[in-house]
Amino acid sequence: MDFDYTSDQLQLRKSVREFALAEIAPHVLEWDEGNIFPLEVVKKAGQLGLLGSVFPEEYGGSGFGYIDYSIIIEELARVDPSVGLIVAAHTSLCSNHIYVAGSEEQKRKYLPKLTTGEWIGCWSLTEPEAGSDAGGTRSAAIFDGQGWVLNGSKTFTTNAHYADVCVAMAVTDRTASQHGISAFVIEKDTPGYRPGKKENKLGMRASATGEVIFTDCRLAKSQLLGTEGEGFVDSLRILDGGRISIAALSVGTAQGAYDAALSYSKQRRQFGRPISEFQAIQHKLADMATSIDAARLLTYRAAHMKDKGLRVTRESAMAKLFASEEAVWICNEAVQIHGGYGFIKDYPVEKFYRDVKLCTIGEGTSEIQRMVIARQLLKTE
Ligand SMILES: Cc1cc2nc3c(=O)[nH]c(=O)nc-3n(C[C@H](O)[C@H](O)[C@H](O)COP(=O)(O)OP(=O)(O)OC[C@H]3O[C@@H](n4cnc5c(N)ncnc54)[C@H](O)[C@@H]3O)c2cc1C
Repeated sequence: MDFDYTSDQLQLRKSVREFALAEIAPHVLEWDEGNIFPLEVVKKAGQLGLLGSVFPEEYGGSGFGYIDYSIIIEELARVDPSVGLIVAAHTSLCSNHIYVAGSEEQKRKYLPKLTTGEWIGCWSLTEPEAGSDAGGTRSAAIFDGQGWVLNGSKTFTTNAHYADVCVAMAVTDRTASQHGISAFVIEKDTPGYRPGKKENKLGMRASATGEVIFTDCRLAKSQLLGTEGEGFVDSLRILDGGRISIAALSVGTAQGAYDAALSYSKQRRQFGRPISEFQAIQHKLADMATSIDAARLLTYRAAHMKDKGLRVTRESAMAKLFASEEAVWICNEAVQIHGGYGFIKDYPVEKFYRDVKLCTIGEGTSEIQRMVIARQLLKTE
């Protein structure tokens, strides 16, 4: 076991931190209040290699691993969780589905554009009637002898309104249950494809979340992604990796809130001394820092195993469950340490408190993570 970052990882962390402070920090409030998607900044992140960290260089990636990727998501989320979420959905959901299930031709066509930020990607599994129960997908694609005709709608797709390419799941065989759902890769100009309602959200407001609608959307045979009927099973594998992103997103968000609370506690004076001198505040800070360390270690363990090519269903669900639940609690404590000022938008903890709630919901709720973990624990080998 080695608990140290490599010198490359330290350098990566430093450069992402500098990028986030220079390009993101000055705009956080404006993007949040205006629901503004920071397209130019996301593209800049792509030019810096932050959108292709886990993919080989031959597809335009940086050839790093999931620990490096977690560092990137953490550092972005520490300044603005919305940007972390945009990058996570683009990288570990959309691009990774193409990387894991795509043909060589599809990988060569799409990944270099996605890894460099020339194109933005989104990934559509959730539907109005199929959330936690994603196997209940209703969108359907029918093969008409020449190609696929896709009808239906998706909800809550991150990046939907800015995506150049969408990976979407649809039923191709109603009789085959979970082996009757296929994945398709769809370019934004395809007739019959369009983003629908953009949601007005509690938090993560700079990330665009919305519907994706398919109306007699004709797709060539070559737009099928992976084996016909295996799109749902592939999605579960994609989510195993995706949950490492949400764990890292939680760690970064919690770290941002903790940093703000620590610094505030040293400045704010009551009863003639800084509030950091009160034991009640010190205990909060100690518990918060301990939880962040534990969440980070669970995240890096899952990331390390993923890099070794091991199955991470249990470990990524544990990391996601623990990190997200702790992050919600940490952001709550960070507001508490700020007193009334924590309720005011001039202080960053107000936004962390709103943003962080997504972490216990997206890519599977905490209840679903517990189901996934329990299923793994009870499985007979
Ligand atoms: C900001 C945001 C971004 C998102 N981005 C994406 C995206 O890019 N792509 C995408 O496909 N999806 C995305 N989602 C969707 C997200 O993954 C779903 O919201 C989530 O999986 C829960 O589904 P649901 O909202 O339909 O809730 P439901 O499934 O209706 O759940 C409601 C409640 O019931 C509980 N519940 C459900 N089933 C069970 C059960 N069997 N046992 C116990 N409790 C249960 C849930 O835990 C929850 O508390 C996003 C969501 C949000 C809010």
